[in-house]
Amino acid sequence: MRIFITGGLGFIGSSVIRNLITKKSIEILNFDKQTYAANRYSLNDIEKNSNYIFHKGDIADKSLITKIFYSFQPHFVMNLAAETHVDRSISSPEEFIKTNINGTFNLLECSRKYLKECKTEIKKVFRFHHISTDEVFGSLGDTGLFTEKSCYKPSSPYSASKASSDHLVRAWHHTYQLPIIITNCSNNYGPHQYREKLIPLTILNAINGETIPIYGEGLQIRDWLYVDDHADALHRILFHGELGETYNIGGNNEITNIELVKKICKILNSKISKKPRDIRSFEELIKYVPDRPGHDFRYGIDASKLEKELGWKATTKIDEGLEKTIDWYIDNQDKVLI
Ligand code: NAD
Repeated sequence: MRIFITGGLGFIGSSVIRNLITKKSIEILNFDKQTYAANRYSLNDIEKNSNYIFHKGDIADKSLITKIFYSFQPHFVMNLAAETHVDRSISSPEEFIKTNINGTFNLLECSRKYLKECKTEIKKVFRFHHISTDEVFGSLGDTGLFTEKSCYKPSSPYSASKASSDHLVRAWHHTYQLPIIITNCSNNYGPHQYREKLIPLTILNAINGETIPIYGEGLQIRDWLYVDDHADALHRILFHGELGETYNIGGNNEITNIELVKKICKILNSKISKKPRDIRSFEELIKYVPDRPGHDFRYGIDASKLEKELGWKATTKIDEGLEKTIDWYIDNQDKVLI
């Protein structure tokens, strides 16, 4: 199987590649633009594997994607390339439109044309797996969960651009019968994530004695999915998911932002006896800052379809996942500060 993976130097993409590359029958071409969010260290261990190729490029580049499709001849496409930070989408939305919408459109068109002309052996198995977010569904109140049938109601430029890309992928299935699968997942956490996101930001600011910013009162609720659990789910869905279907992937770990940050501080307190500056507990670094405009209150995922149909369920509990994540950041600070 040849798999064309976009965004493989990103946080989730690199975990997906580490997960799939262990299968000798799989060849991977990792196509990534190497934006600020890419981490060149994250795939160091597998860079020289004979079943791994890296190609730098933009998913919106039609002639380059076409050329690579015809030379690599993928059986599967996994689209993880995206602009992903909500705050950046608010201050400068243009790149989000270019990559998340135009880039996805370009991949769909290139796939459609490639599929018309490729070998029957590939035609029979080809699938385009689009990786998306639960943020497309908007915000929940205190109760309820997003299901695969929830209405789309995105609030930020980021979630609106991801929602647009999901709609395009579905339209290419309905109109052109492109074999697709969409997955919508909750917030991921784990090693190798760029430092601007809540968990790495909290850990790295804390160990460097910098303030830990919390939006509003920190009462927003998120469900947290350990990144290697997510990669495992994507692996299962890529090979066994039903074409044209959507699967929600959740971690079953809902928690408010402030509770999460306090948990991280507590773990750090137990691991680091010599605290920075003259603090006695990392919690002293927490600083409440004005809320993000249009900040969604709660996301929660009903992932029972995935469990019933494909027998997959997240296994990493938040405390265990945070321990592993914190240990990794303590040991690898030099690899995330670039
Ligand atoms: P990330 O920001 O860590 O990495 C994105 C990667 O895409 C980077 O390596 C970057 O260089 C690459 N990229 C960006 N623009 C590109 C372009 N035009 N062409 C080629 N490559 C490009 O993102 P992530 O957190 O790994 O997220 C991966 C996917 O999962 C995204 O589609 C995101 O929307 C989705 N998702 C992420 C989360 C999360 O919590 N991180 C949650 C739900 C869904």
